[in-house]
Amino acid sequence: MAIRSPAFSSLRIKLAKWYASTRRDLPWRRTTDPYAITVSEIMLQQTQVVTVIPYYERWLELFPDWAALAKAAEHDVIKAWEGLGYYRRARNLQALAKAVVLEGGQMPRNAEGLRALPGIGPYTAAAVGSIAFGLPLAVLDGNVMRVLARLLALPDDISRPATRTKLQEIADQFLDERDPSTHNQAVMELGATVCLPRQPMCLICPLQAGCRGRSHAEDFPVKSRVPQVRRAETVAILKHGKSFYCEQVPAGKPWHGLWRFPDFDPVRMVPGDEIARLKYGITKYAVTMQAISAKWKSRVPAAGRYLTVEQMQALAFAAPHRKLARLL
Ligand code: SF4
Repeated sequence: MAIRSPAFSSLRIKLAKWYASTRRDLPWRRTTDPYAITVSEIMLQQTQVVTVIPYYERWLELFPDWAALAKAAEHDVIKAWEGLGYYRRARNLQALAKAVVLEGGQMPRNAEGLRALPGIGPYTAAAVGSIAFGLPLAVLDGNVMRVLARLLALPDDISRPATRTKLQEIADQFLDERDPSTHNQAVMELGATVCLPRQPMCLICPLQAGCRGRSHAEDFPVKSRVPQVRRAETVAILKHGKSFYCEQVPAGKPWHGLWRFPDFDPVRMVPGDEIARLKYGITKYAVTMQAISAKWKSRVPAAGRYLTVEQMQALAFAAPHRKLARLL
């Protein structure tokens, strides 16, 4: 099912021409600084470009280089990431900064060295290696997998590791080794702006003539469905004057380091009326969060703090709890 190399070479040329004339002017495309490229690549994982832009710009003002990020206080790092989600990325980025500083402040300029750094997986190593250093490494993210699966009308399930290995091999063959930076960004751009998950714009696609999946593009990539699990939770709004009781999530739990309202605990609390009901998604869970007013039955635990709405604004909150704080 492989595309023969002559087809690849003509598709590469068409893709490069299209990218040169339509590429979006994004802030991380105006630099080859490995630090800035790494920040952008890690922020862009699981997050839309429009959301990332203001975070990226603010991040570079707060932490302009590896050294500044390495020595920053963890709560400042988490606060700067607040709202982007997947907070492990912020901690990994700081751990990476510390490792780079320990190695003399420069990232290695080869694939093995990049992949050996903490928090750098194959995707980030390929993206940073190609864009910052011009290394011939093909990126494979969700956008690239979709484009390649459609180009080849690949019938294999992309949730299987073997399919990902196959797609990486195809991406390697497709790579323009003379300009891997532009090529990688062009494929990702095509996936993000033309070869969309729903209603791809095949009529304006530069690769349409060589695309085997074009007539039924939405059937690709083939992916087995993982059903979402519904979950209900109740959080307690415990008020004292103009302040609300909140807790910081301890290590080892999702949202570690972030602030939140406590779960309602019938042993320690008396329930009151419903205040709000919110829905959010986390990993495989579709959660309905009910917020109720409550009172302590006995002593207030020492674990948390009473915070005013203004104090809450200065702290990093888990996204659904930030929404709840706004409602208060
Ligand atoms: Fe995607 Fe359509 Fe282009 Fe094929 S022709 S790569 S399906 S946008």
